[in-house]
Amino acid sequence: MSMKCKVGVIYGEEALLYSFPEFHPFRSDRVQRFYNEVLPEFLRSYYQQLIAVKPELASEDEILLYHDPEYVNFVKKKSEAGYGYLDYGDTPAFKGCYEASLYVVGSTLKLVRMIIQGIIDHGFNPVGGLHHARKDRAGGFCIFNDASVAIKYLLEVVKIRQVLYVDIDAHHGDGVFYDYYFDKNVIIADIHQDGRTLYPGTGFSYERGGGEAEGTKLNIPLMPGAGDEEFIEAWGKVEEFIDKFNPEFIILQAGADGLAGDPLTGLMYSEKVHEYATSRLHKISEEKCNGRLLVLGGGGYNRENILKAWRAVLSSLLNQPK
Ligand SMILES: [Zn+2]
Repeated sequence: MSMKCKVGVIYGEEALLYSFPEFHPFRSDRVQRFYNEVLPEFLRSYYQQLIAVKPELASEDEILLYHDPEYVNFVKKKSEAGYGYLDYGDTPAFKGCYEASLYVVGSTLKLVRMIIQGIIDHGFNPVGGLHHARKDRAGGFCIFNDASVAIKYLLEVVKIRQVLYVDIDAHHGDGVFYDYYFDKNVIIADIHQDGRTLYPGTGFSYERGGGEAEGTKLNIPLMPGAGDEEFIEAWGKVEEFIDKFNPEFIILQAGADGLAGDPLTGLMYSEKVHEYATSRLHKISEEKCNGRLLVLGGGGYNRENILKAWRAVLSSLLNQPK
């Protein structure tokens, strides 16, 4: 008998508000095209399984679970002004960027709650996965870190014991990685392009977590040009690592910028990587934590690649892993 999982996907125009000014690579056409060209057919074909979930605003208290109040106020002010930069030049402010960011975080939290309540088994927030934001600063197109807020929410509000965060975006997920470096309840595995060759310049294999959290973090940097074969090999090490833990919730940041032809990175994956990673975590989530798996869209700047990767993610969540 095949089990049919219920999947929630964030769908609504509020998810399009997180969009940097013209000529910036991170703009809402990424998500708009997914909504126009991919999602409708999935909603039709999987109408018994796939639920469209309206974006929701996070409360300020929720943001403050992770982010510092000074930084939150700084974003508010910049959002009202609507110009200047939130960091050293990658992340411009725009009018309403505060509310837009609250929608990203709120939507991720809404999926977390729906999974915890058992309304859905798995969730996908295409505009989530803003993994470079730190608790006190923006970075790399990321204003508030929805993944980090979700982890805090799970540990402190839901009070689960342990979260597994896996990140396959081409860029190292430095915000999540370093802000939880000393937290033994946050297990992290991150496959990315080598930091000597790509922003944010971090994520080396000797970094394994600090203090009592030593051994709870895994970085696997790949050199530019690495493709599916190198990814699958690295993934084997990720599974060996995951085997040692018993997480109660799994988050996958499934950035699409590792696919060949991305304008910002040098990896050469195909969307098979997204299918493989999502299917494997789908299976692992059913073995370890009742299927509690949340996928976040992350980066990806070649528009065609984004559609391929996110299609692979959705179909891997909707179909039973072999
Ligand atoms: Zn990225």
